Formats: sequence, structure tokens, C-alpha cells
Amino acid sequence: MTYTQLEKNFQKLGLVIIKRVINLCKKVLSKATRKKAAVKTVSGPTVLTRDQHSVSRKYISSSALKVLYRLNSGGYQAYLVGGGVRDIILGLEPKDFDIATNATPEQIKALFRNCRLIGRRFRLAHIVFGREIIEVATFRGHHESAPDKDKQCKKTSKQSEHGMLLRDNIYGSIEEDAERRDFTINALYYSAIDFKVYDFANGIQDINEGKIRLIGDPETRYREDPVRMLRAIRFATKLDMEISKETEAPIRELSSLLENIPAARMFEEFLKMFMSGKAVANFLLLRDYKLFQYFFPALEQLANQESHQYVDDFVMRAMKNTDARINNDQRVTPAFLIAALLWYPLQIQISRLKSETQLAPQDAFFAALSEIMSEQQRSIAIPKRFQAMMKDIWILQEKLERRDGKRAFAAFEHQKFRAGYDFLLIRGEIEGGKVQELATWWTDFQTATAETQVQMIKSAPSSNTGPRRTPRKRRKPKDKTSSTTNET
Ligand code: ATP
Ligand code: MG
Repeated sequence: MTYTQLEKNFQKLGLVIIKRVINLCKKVLSKATRKKAAVKTVSGPTVLTRDQHSVSRKYISSSALKVLYRLNSGGYQAYLVGGGVRDIILGLEPKDFDIATNATPEQIKALFRNCRLIGRRFRLAHIVFGREIIEVATFRGHHESAPDKDKQCKKTSKQSEHGMLLRDNIYGSIEEDAERRDFTINALYYSAIDFKVYDFANGIQDINEGKIRLIGDPETRYREDPVRMLRAIRFATKLDMEISKETEAPIRELSSLLENIPAARMFEEFLKMFMSGKAVANFLLLRDYKLFQYFFPALEQLANQESHQYVDDFVMRAMKNTDARINNDQRVTPAFLIAALLWYPLQIQISRLKSETQLAPQDAFFAALSEIMSEQQRSIAIPKRFQAMMKDIWILQEKLERRDGKRAFAAFEHQKFRAGYDFLLIRGEIEGGKVQELATWWTDFQTATAETQVQMIKSAPSSNTGPRRTPRKRRKPKDKTSSTTNET
């Protein structure tokens, strides 16, 4: 081989190596861009002028407009954001109006007399106008993981070991704020200065395509705040949209992160999920994504044991009932639905206690009630007033059965008779037989004349199944000579 041939071969080899390196670089780069494309990020906003969108001031509450104007004239940026913009674009009436601003909570407070600052995890201002509350949040900024857990600097947030944000009070620019929002359709900002809508994450396109899509990497966003899994479901049912593939993909795997959410926040989410006219749809989706168990573990356990034929039907019937009432503008209480959801778990617990202990029926009932309630409280913190009503509804089921003597009238006059009777009606529909007969009896009783009522009571089948307390031991007659201070 001559020297020139050798040189040519080296050149060829060099070219092949360079080509290979270029191809490798191309491959790596395209992989990275593909990964990036799957993650929805925020870029410079698409700006829609007034003639390009349907957000008109006539659809915005006058209180929200007042807040926007006052912040603007105070020299701050302020935008209507979230459900307020999204729902108006969708032709729906917003549930509430949320505002984002570059004013800090203290600066907001200084502008409004009717302002109170709330929240620790997420500090924001509530501007109160009678019954209406306008929520004003300062633009959120990016987080950096603290290198040293004990040294939280200005730009670091407090995170749990699971990556959950325990505090989200780092302020930033509007672009950063948009990136911190949950879904693309919730990152639309309306300005009352230029009447433009600023779309930071292609939210308008997702509204048009009916897609619920998280901003950023779904797994990271769920880890930061697992409640976003519930919000994805809620918006899908509320807006009749579909959760995008990438957004739904990690849900089942990450579902257990909901265990870390405080029970009080879970109760708030329960209300939003089940008391807004979409209980059935939310229930089905929650079940599908294996999330329902974090609201009602005892019920989920029971529903998975096929032996309890009534459970699913009863739960569905109670949810349909709640939805129908809400959609008819009738009054509803979460106590009724929760009482229904826990009714069969309670019955199972009562039977277990009856068979395993010597407790009399009524004692078994109260013991089971307290066990079921304390277990339930660990998942969703039910306020005391609702717990009291649930108890009344359950106790009435027994009272409505025992109608002899004056008992029927006493039950009829019970403060919560209506709820107890409605509950019995649903049980009757599902269980049929004697329960149905009892429900019909009470339906007739309410409209009967006084005379017929007396007749009905006389001919009502007497119930000997009713729970009675274990007879109390008779107290020994007091020894009048002993001192009361010795009593234990
Ligand atoms: P609606 O009020 O109809 O339930 P919404 O979208 O307005 O829907 P809000 O809970 O009022 O929901 O929150 C207002 C906005 O705050 C949301 O649109 C979203 O941009 C942001 N947001 C609320 N919760 C979260 C969260 N957990 N993570 C990120 N952003 C959130
Ligand atoms: Mg809202």
C-alpha cells in the first residue's frame, strides 16, 4: 500500500467515524425532543384579542371586576384565571372567580378592607363581598429542591419525602405562574385592561379538543400534589372532556399518594366530587382509576366481596338521588350520601359484633357506629354536624320500624324524620320485601287522617327485632348514711 492509498483510507475512516458521531448525536437529540414534546410546557403566550374570544365582562361577576380594576389602578398586574375564564369560553357559568396578580398577599391586603389572608400551604387573599368570595393569588414561581433540607432558602419550597409540596409560597412571574397551574385549560389569563386572553399552554386548543392535559411532566406534577389526580377526573366529568393519555397514564400507579393528603382536604375534595351534580360519573371514574378507596376504604373493601348484593345498587341509587336533587335545585346534605355509603359497612360491623361478642343489639349498633366512624375519619374528616345527622338517619331506620304505642308519632316528629324516611325509601327500592313494605307504610301514614293513622299503628306488624340495650344492672339502693364523696 502506497503512502497516498494509506492516507485516503485514513480519510475514509475519519469520515465514517465523524458520520457515526453525527448520527449518534442526531439520535440522542431527537429522543430528547420527542420526550419534550410529550410533556406540555409553557411557552410565550398566544394572545387572543377581544374579537377572538368570548370572555365578555357581562359574564364576570361585578365583584371580580372590582378586584381586577382596583389591583390594576394600584399599579399591579391582575388577571382573571382558572375556571372563570375556562368556563366562560365553554359557555358555562363559572362556579367562582379566581384572580392572579403580582401583588403580594400583604400588598393585596393593603388595597382591600374586605380582605383576609388564608392558607399556610398556599397563602392567598380572600376578598369578601357578602356571600361571594373572590380568591386572589400571587403569581407562583419555580421551586428548587433544597440541597440541605434544614436550610430552606428563598427559592426552595417545603417538600415531603414523596415529593409533595408542603408549601407553595414562592412568588414569580406570570409565565412561571402559568407553569405552576395544573391543566392547560386552567392556564388562561384574561386582562381587564386590554380585554385579551393570554393562553400560555395551548389551553384553547385543548378546550376545543376536549382534552384534560397536565402542564409539565405528569408524574412530577402528581407527586407535587396528588389531589391533581382527583382534579383531572373532576374536570373530565364536569366539562365532559377526556383525560389525555399522558395525563392519565401514571394515575393508577401513583394512586396511593392520596394517603398522604390530610383528611380535611380530602373532605373538601369529596364535596366537590360528590355534591355538584356529577356524583355518579365521578364515582365510576374514581373506581376505574382505583382512587375511590381513598375516600371510603370500608365500602370499597365490601364492594369487592361479591357476597353483598345490595352494596353497589344502593350506592348507585343514593348517588343518582343526590345528582337528581342537585340538578333540580333541591336541598342536599353530604350527611345523607355519606350515611348511605357507610350503611352496609355499618351493618356488617354490627353483625360481626353481635356474633363475636355478648353485646345487646343496641350496644352492638353504637359500638359498630363508633368503629366505622373513627376509621372513616382517617380518610375524610367529616365535620361533627354531618356526623350527628348521619347518626340520626341510621338511628331512625330502627325507630321507623318500631311503630307500636306512641312510637310512630315520636318518630314522625323527629327533627330528621324526612331524611330518615327518604333513606328508608331508597333502602326499600333496593332491598324490597319487608323494607319496601315499611317504606310504603310510612308513605301512607304521612298523608292519612288522624283516625286512619291510629288504625295503621294498631294493625302494624309488631317489631321484636329492634335493638335494645343490655339491661342495666339495678343500682343498689343508696346507703343513706354513706358519704357521697366516696362514690366512684
Ligand atoms: P372550579 O372552581 O370550577 O372547581 P377551577 O379551575 O377554578 O375550577 P379552583 O380550585 O377554583 O379550580 O382553582 C383555581 C385555579 O387554581 C385552577 O384553575 C388552577 O389554575 C389553579 N389550581 C387549583 N388547584 C391547583 C392545584 N392543585 N395545582 C395546580 N394548580 C391549581
Ligand atoms: Mg375556581
